[in-house]
Amino acid sequence: MTDRYSTARCRGPYGGENGTADCGDPARFEVARHLRAPLRVCPVHLGPALLLAAGVLWPPGITLVS
Ligand SMILES: [Zn+2]
Repeated sequence: MTDRYSTARCRGPYGGENGTADCGDPARFEVARHLRAPLRVCPVHLGPALLLAAGVLWPPGITLVS
């Protein structure tokens, strides 16, 4: 994995696009999205992000990033 992943922080559960503070925990999963950058989230926010974040594919495409 790259440094980009090792320093990734959770952007969940809304994908960091609603202007509020992100979770900030280390990201463990990357969720594929349609026409958007993949969303990196911590274990706590993986479930909520699948349901709440914009552009999430269904069925979800989830990659372990760390
Ligand atoms: Zn989180």
